Amino acid sequence: MSLLVISPGKDPEAWVKALKEQHPGLNIYVYPEDHDKEEVEFALTWKHPRGIFKNYPNLKVIASMGAGVDHITSDEELPENIKITKVVDDRLEEDMGTFVLGLILAHQRNLLHYRESQLNEKWEPVPYTRNNQIKVGILGIGNLGQRVAHKLLQNDFQVIGFSRNKKEIENVESFAGEDELDEFLEQSNILVNMLPLTPNTEKILDKELFEKLPKGAYLINVARGEHLVEQDLLAKVDDGHLSGAALDVFWEEPIRDEHPFWKHPKIRVTPHIASVTHPKSVVPQIIENYERLQDGEPLKNEVKRDIGY
Ligand code: NDP
Repeated sequence: MSLLVISPGKDPEAWVKALKEQHPGLNIYVYPEDHDKEEVEFALTWKHPRGIFKNYPNLKVIASMGAGVDHITSDEELPENIKITKVVDDRLEEDMGTFVLGLILAHQRNLLHYRESQLNEKWEPVPYTRNNQIKVGILGIGNLGQRVAHKLLQNDFQVIGFSRNKKEIENVESFAGEDELDEFLEQSNILVNMLPLTPNTEKILDKELFEKLPKGAYLINVARGEHLVEQDLLAKVDDGHLSGAALDVFWEEPIRDEHPFWKHPKIRVTPHIASVTHPKSVVPQIIENYERLQDGEPLKNEVKRDIGY
């Protein structure tokens, strides 16, 4: 049995090094180097070439290198019986928590405004709202979203969360299911999107949703670009309903030259760095699942293929 690493566009070296250090006996192939496809039962991947998995007759598990699995589930030629796993990692959660907290503090204390003022050599104080007066709505309060909530609560923000199933999280009011979405949105002064990308969530951040947010609301999208209808965001920021947005993920990465987001004064762009998987931190769970597969035990962090996350 062999493990195949497939990460075109991402250097696999750090992954192979960490795998070898933590499991010296492991037989590893790196795509597209020459390898025996029949031997491969486990693949570790990030954005594989579409359709290739059907060429591996004994493949049983595809492990994502990150928390998102949409790069796997969106492959229309994915064989049906293959199991998919995602990353659940303390470091990934912590980094997401601090990044979103940083964005929110920067927004709420008007730091972009002051940078502009500085560049224009202007001394322009503006009023600000205190943390405890701001309600942050976390759309998709799962592993990463709960860490974000924790960081925000530590900083006196009010936090509410939306998910498919009701949650019991201390000091976080939980909203669940489509019936409760409007009530959740109506209260969210800042909306943080942390949903997985599935057929149910694609393009969820649209005009209709933005109009349900309070006037002056701010959007943070750190989940996937495909959640957002870009033109709707631009329209709602430009008509003043939204005060702005911080975007870390995009339909096309990098965004194209001349994209209106680049120079928009109220839109902050970061290059998909909210939380970056660290191979050394994640490899132990990959190896554990590799061994679980060999021992016929249930996998950890397995994705429910019918719901897509
Ligand atoms: P989880 O699976 O732990 O959490 C997802 C949450 O979304 C759950 O609370 C789930 O509800 C909820 N959810 C899913 N579908 C729906 C729906 N249709 N309606 C309402 N709620 C829904 O995922 P993670 O927190 O680990 O990761 C979230 C996403 O973050 C990833 O899929 C990835 O796309 C993105 N990400 C971005 C990174 C970046 O650097 N920008 C880095 C890492 C991840 P329930 O709990 O009820 O099942």
